[in-house]
Amino acid sequence: MSAQPTWIFDFDSTLVRVEALDELADIALHGRADHAALLTRIKHITNQGMEGAMTIEKSLRQRLDLLALDARMLPALVERLCANFTDSVWRGRQRLSDMRDRVWVVSGGCREWVAPVVERLGLRTDHVMANWLRPRADGLLELDPASPCAVDSGKATAIDAAGLPRPRLMVGDGMTDWRVREHGACERFICFTEVVRREAVVTRADVVADCLDAALAVRP
Ligand SMILES: [Mg+2]
Repeated sequence: MSAQPTWIFDFDSTLVRVEALDELADIALHGRADHAALLTRIKHITNQGMEGAMTIEKSLRQRLDLLALDARMLPALVERLCANFTDSVWRGRQRLSDMRDRVWVVSGGCREWVAPVVERLGLRTDHVMANWLRPRADGLLELDPASPCAVDSGKATAIDAAGLPRPRLMVGDGMTDWRVREHGACERFICFTEVVRREAVVTRADVVADCLDAALAVRP
């Protein structure tokens, strides 16, 4: 009998059907006259990062530069994300929760919002690998430069550093998720397409899954 696999899930456009930074931008820019134009720019940068047309580090830094992050925005973001769980993930939350000791979440977002959202699914907050924020002198928040997942191969490095048991299966929609496989930090990469189908990622995947059940049916 083979060992039970470790499941590693991406967060944005995988566990939730939105990109958290897009939602954060919508909250942060609310009421500003240039709201729509800035939001369009941020979504464009998000997609460039996800498709591999821009490094993830540059994508993250550029988007955060456009926002003035305030800790008071975070509760609203968490509530909005919890209202946007991916359909099959919300339906399958009991199944995920039952296997929570073998489930990890790795995200290019920040643990300040990823952890409380995955906790709502019954997952372990100490199984979240993400970036984190730090206060600036003016009281606003910025990305902590020590954040592990803010570079292109950050997810693979974080997973290997955590020494997660093998075999590992990575489920995600983006290029940074596939890089986990490219760097050998997982045995199989499952491209998750329920929320968004990125062809550049689909073509590299070992398996394509259009819902949680299809992903969980994959064996190492
Ligand atoms: Mg994603």
